[in-house]
Amino acid sequence: MSASLEIKNLNVSIGDKRIIKDSSLTVPKGEVHAIMGPNGTGKSTLAKALAGHPDYEVTSGDALIDGESILELEVDERSRNGLFLAFQYPMEIPGVSIANFIRAAKNARLPDGEELNAPAFYKELYEKMDMLKIDRKFTSRSVNEGFSGGEKKRCEILQMAMLDPNYAILDETDSGLDIDALKVVSDGVNALRGPGLGALVITHYQRLLEYIVPDRVHVMYDGRIVKSGEKELALELESKGYDWIKEIAGNAA
Ligand code: ADP
Ligand code: MG
Repeated sequence: MSASLEIKNLNVSIGDKRIIKDSSLTVPKGEVHAIMGPNGTGKSTLAKALAGHPDYEVTSGDALIDGESILELEVDERSRNGLFLAFQYPMEIPGVSIANFIRAAKNARLPDGEELNAPAFYKELYEKMDMLKIDRKFTSRSVNEGFSGGEKKRCEILQMAMLDPNYAILDETDSGLDIDALKVVSDGVNALRGPGLGALVITHYQRLLEYIVPDRVHVMYDGRIVKSGEKELALELESKGYDWIKEIAGNAA
């Protein structure tokens, strides 16, 4: 069994529109990979299909966690199997505090009838918040309600730290991600980086990768992973732009 998040010749459609085309990549546990690509190329579609969003139909290919296909699993089962997805546009949940939201998510992973011990939960919560430099007041606020971009990201990273996933997919906004939000995400990922986590960081900008130095970079163009390489590939993209990739994609088609 290989400890990895593996995407094999994946094809994903929304309605009758084919978005992801024959894409493959493998993120071994312990590594951080980046997917870069222009707007509208299918990066978020890939993330949502992996999370099990019902509108995104996998027409062929496979996605596996540690050698086992996850495609037949429900969204919550994928999560309990160790997959975490941070959304590009996180949902607001008025009236539900961050602490209670995370507690419910953790309780859902316990066997029927078992409940988290509250003092132990808060001890862990405060430890993780200290590690991520998050203010204690934060946890009593409703999930994402009236949050700034940076606060939404902080909320997601805290959820990720508390759920302790084996694999995490972080889909970044392609615009409007200020330097504060960027730092929150990168500091969080760097703090959680280690042999027990495989992460796939999706971004439009090379800038994020100055803070999170990836082990590998995959370039997506028109729904296909057209090139994979070392971290220098991100710099090459930044200096040459995406036209260069368009040519490679054209030659490959
Ligand atoms: P990226 O994240 O790389 O900017 P997306 O995955 O958001 O790209 O979008 C890829 C393509 O899929 C775009 O052409 C977009 O218009 C289309 N698309 C995304 N979500 C939907 C949806 N819910 N319904 C219809 N088309 C969609
Ligand atoms: Mg996107």
